Formats: sequence, structure tokens, C-alpha cells
Amino acid sequence: MVLRGVRMAAGASAMAGRSRQLAVVVIACWAVGTHAVAAGADDAWPRVSPEWLSRDAGGGIAILPLVCWWVWIAAWAATSDWVFRDSARFKIRPEFWAACTVFPFVACSLIAWWIPWSAAGQALMALAWLVPLFLYSRERNPKAPPAESVCTIAHLQRAFSGLLKRMGVKVKSPSIVDDGLPWVTLVATGAETPEENKKWQDEAAAMPGFEAAKKLLQDAAAARSSTIVIDAAADGIRVAHEVDGIAGPSRAVKTPAKGSGKTKQAEVWADAPPLDAAIGNGAVAVLRTIAGADAAKLSGEKDAGFTVEVDGKKRPCRLSTRATKTSKQIIITLETPPFAPKKLEELGMSGAMAARVRELMALEKGLFVVSSPPATGCSTTFDMVLLSTDRLLRDFVSIEDSSSHHQEVQNIKPVRYSASAGEVPLAALKAAMLEYPRAIVTRDLLDKDLAGKLVELANDQQLVIVSLQATDALDAVQKLIDMGIPRDQLARCLLGSLSQRLIRKLCTKCGEPLPTPPELLQRFKKTAEELPEIKRASPHGGCRFCAGRQFIGRTALYELAAGPTLRQAIAQQVDAKVLKQAAVKDGMRPLSDEGLAVVATGLTSLDEVQRVFAAKKEAGAVAGSKTVSQPGAKPVIKPGTSPGTSPGTGPGTKK
Ligand SMILES: [Zn+2]
Repeated sequence: MVLRGVRMAAGASAMAGRSRQLAVVVIACWAVGTHAVAAGADDAWPRVSPEWLSRDAGGGIAILPLVCWWVWIAAWAATSDWVFRDSARFKIRPEFWAACTVFPFVACSLIAWWIPWSAAGQALMALAWLVPLFLYSRERNPKAPPAESVCTIAHLQRAFSGLLKRMGVKVKSPSIVDDGLPWVTLVATGAETPEENKKWQDEAAAMPGFEAAKKLLQDAAAARSSTIVIDAAADGIRVAHEVDGIAGPSRAVKTPAKGSGKTKQAEVWADAPPLDAAIGNGAVAVLRTIAGADAAKLSGEKDAGFTVEVDGKKRPCRLSTRATKTSKQIIITLETPPFAPKKLEELGMSGAMAARVRELMALEKGLFVVSSPPATGCSTTFDMVLLSTDRLLRDFVSIEDSSSHHQEVQNIKPVRYSASAGEVPLAALKAAMLEYPRAIVTRDLLDKDLAGKLVELANDQQLVIVSLQATDALDAVQKLIDMGIPRDQLARCLLGSLSQRLIRKLCTKCGEPLPTPPELLQRFKKTAEELPEIKRASPHGGCRFCAGRQFIGRTALYELAAGPTLRQAIAQQVDAKVLKQAAVKDGMRPLSDEGLAVVATGLTSLDEVQRVFAAKKEAGAVAGSKTVSQPGAKPVIKPGTSPGTSPGTGPGTKK
């Protein structure tokens, strides 16, 4: 019994992690406290028994039972802490199991002091510790991933071999059956009442396609997909994922890894074949049921939805249906955890550029422009620019359309107008000016009148920060001129134009080295010795780590056009080429150069940079059609398109 207890304590304590340390500290304090009291009250406290094992007639303390008592306490503290967190994670009656693990054990550990026969006291404590733990494991295991089962023979073997391994003894432990997929649970949350949610949930769980539906979401979560499109086509059910802003067919292992050791042949990943119609339709029926898509009670405004728990983390999902010419699509949008960087550098900006931006943001007046190509959005960068301003010292207002849903930035007062009700942004600006703000911000500047007024204010005494859609920093300047801003006014107030381009990062596990092409060496002005290789995407179509996508997450490239030469050039009505030369003279490094610099570091591939800049040449319209930035919008999927061939949105997908 004791040996088993030690094994279990070892396994469970590994899980308890930091909280275990806390428990140990608490117990240590308790131990020191009680023994100090005991030492102070010599007559009241039972004297130490001369026998090691049992107490003497007067109820004195025997050393061995006392040591055991503390061992039980430590083991119990570790496992009960784990039960608290684990039951909350799987939602298995957390309060009930907390009570079951705490009260019997505390009672038995006190009783153990009074029972004259110390062995019985020890046995009682062991039972009070193990029985609730064992009962909990029986209720828990069916709800947890197979690889996480506890109190099973395999788990005890693993825990024991792990313990031996730590002591330097190598034993073969049973391998965990793990497909590498995250554990998902589907939860009905879209109904008005808990009873109805339960009804939908039970109905869905009883349907034959339940496991297939779970697998669908498991695959999507493993691929870090934010949108799943299930398309009922003639040859079966096609599943597409949007990952890092790029929509493409879901991916699967085509040929599993062969061989062993160093000669191991890598897994080959390819677009997943269409699902069998019966399986696919079964899964769709389950998802529709759990989301209550067929229940009449859903109000028109609200999309059908449910929640998927991925490894214990809740991710609300929305389910919508759309009929295309040839098929019917089910679109599931998974809410992604917000990406909240603390400073510009975390987005991929160089320290020098970030310092320059902060410097410009500290100026009293002028116009600062943040831009990105259409359909990729730069709201994170815009927020970060705003966060680098002195919002606590100056009054900031933000002119916003009430239909747009931007995260509010602390200390920036939103002044809203309703474009759908026919209100113009200029009216909101006029209202905002009554309070004499010192800085004005607005996103997605399109309104000519607003732009004209903002430039006037930037020339007067306000700091103005705007975002707009443009392919690069100088295109943004041109866009302002096209809005009818007089060149001389713009030249006078322009502090800087910052442009952002998102680029996917190569998977660090499967990206492969590639000898640096001579043209690139020439471009970098380096020799083959200085830069022997760059990286390319896996020729095997990816790996398990990137779920066959070859890329993981994104970073942003930036260019900042700012300086007196540029302002002079703007005033002089020069053409685009001269404007660029002027900006470069002021220290701008063009986006394409930034891209190549990133290739040289091995962060991404040359193909990816070429893809991103090819999209620019297609005038943004194509980029827009291939990407999905609006939840629920249709990702255009070309059959056979590998995920390495279309553009992306927003940084932040960090694994
Ligand atoms: Zn990979």
C-alpha cells in the first residue's frame, strides 16, 4: 500500500507543479509552528516514546508514525491540489470532489493522533487519501484523453518508471497512445436555457456522427484554424481550414514515416481527401444539433453557436450556412484567443524603428499614417502605435463609426457617429473638438472631408494618427493626396507613414536548409561563405508540429517613411520613383528589402516573400478575394492549392 502510494504521489505530484510548492511551504510552516508550540509546552505534549514503532502507555509520540504522518500529508496536499484543478478543467463536480478529498482526510489525520494503535491510524490516513482519489479517477477517466488517464495500471507503470528514471534507473515504460491531436469537448451553449442546452448536447452525443464531428474540430484545432468550411460537393464532403489568414483544404498525412534512426524517412503531408459523404453528413448533423441550428427558437440576429473546449480551454464557435451555386456550405468560426502584445517590437518591428515611432509620437503636432494592404488589417499595429503615445498627459479622442468593433484603447475617448443612420464623421469630429483634445485618431480613413479637416488640425496644434488601406508607406501618402489633401499642407504636417506587411513564419521543425541562390547573395552583397544557406518550406508538405502547413504563425514587416527629404518631395509634386528615392534618403528601408532580410535570417522562405509581394502587384483586389478577414466570409479554395500559395492577415498566431 505504501509503495503504491509513493508511486501515485510521484505521478500526481508531477502534475501539481507550482501549487505543490505552495502546499509544501504551507505544510512546512505548519510543522514548524506546531512543533514549536509542542516544545514550549513540555508537560502538556506527549513525551517521545522510547519505542520507534508504537506509542507507549501514556500516548507518547513514536518517531516512525510521526514521519509517516507527514508523508501522508505531503502526498495528499499534492494530489488534492491536482484534483481541484483537474475537476474544474473537466467540469466534474469540482465542489463535491474538493469536499471528498479534504474533509475525510483532515478528519482521519486528526483521529490518527488519538488512536492508540498507530498502525491503524496510518492505515486510516492512507485510505482517506486514496479512496477519494481512486473514485475520482473512475469518474474522470472517461472524460479525459486516453493519454491522460490516471490510476490505471499503465499510469502507475509510467509514474514508477519516471521515478526510477529520475533516480538513474532506465526501464521501459508503456508508450502512450497519442495521435498528437488536442483533446476537444463539444458543449452546447447557444440555447436560452441550461435545460435546452443539455437537451441539444444529449441529442448530439447520441448521434452516430458525434466522434466524426469531434475529429473535425480536433483537426481544425491542431491546424490552428480559425475558420472551418465544410462543403458538400459531388465527390464527398470537402473540409477547408483558414490558417494564418490563408484558406486551403485541410491537410493529412499521406505517407507515414518509415524506417528508423538516422535514415528515417519523413512523413509526407498533402491535402486531405474529401470525407465520405455518410461520415461528413453525420458530423454536420451533429454540429447543427449541438448549435441548435435547426431549433426554431434562435432569434434572427444571433448566429447558431456552441463552444468547443480545446485541451480544457473554451473557444466559442459560430455556425452559419451558405448556399453557393454548386453546393451548400457550413462555416464554423472558432474564436481565437486575443493577441495582446506589449510593444511594437513584439510585432516584428526593429528596435530602431520602434524607437523612431515613439519619438514621433511624442511630438506635439503633426500627422502620422499607419497602413496595410486591403483585407489584411493593421489594427494590432495601430493599437500598438496608440499605446506608444503619451495618452496620460494629453487628451486623446477617437472618431469611430459605431458599427465598427474595435477594441477600446485605454485613455482614448471614443466619439462615435453612425454611418448607417446617415451621420458624417466630420460632425463627430466637430463635437469632439468642443473638448479641445490634443490628439485625434481615426481608423480606416476614407472620408475626404474628414481627411481634409484632420490635416488642417495636424498643421494647427493637434497630433493626428490615422490608419488607411495602402500597399506601402508611399502609396498611403499618395492615397491622401488622391483624397484631395493639398500637397503643401501634407508636406508640412506629415510626421511619418508606417506600412505593414504580414508574412508567415516557416515551421521550425520541418523547414529545410537551401543553398543561398546567387541572385540573393548579390542582393545582400555577401559571399556564399558569409551566407551559405537560407531556409525553404518542407518538401514533404509539412510535419505534425505545423499540421502539414509548413508555416506556423506570422510576423510583420514594416517600412517607415519619415523625414525632411520626403516632405520636400511631396511638396514638389514628384513622381512615385523620386518620392521613393527621397524616402530612402531619409532612412526608409523598403518592405521588399525587409522581406529579404527576414529570408536571410531563416525566419521565412524566399517563396513566401515572393508570394506576399506578388499579391501586392495584383493590386490588392486579388489578395482580398483569397483571404478571409471577416468571420463567416467565404474563403476561396482552389482545388489542389497548397497552403503555401495564398496571402495572410494579422500577426499573432503564436503557438
Ligand atoms: Zn512543420
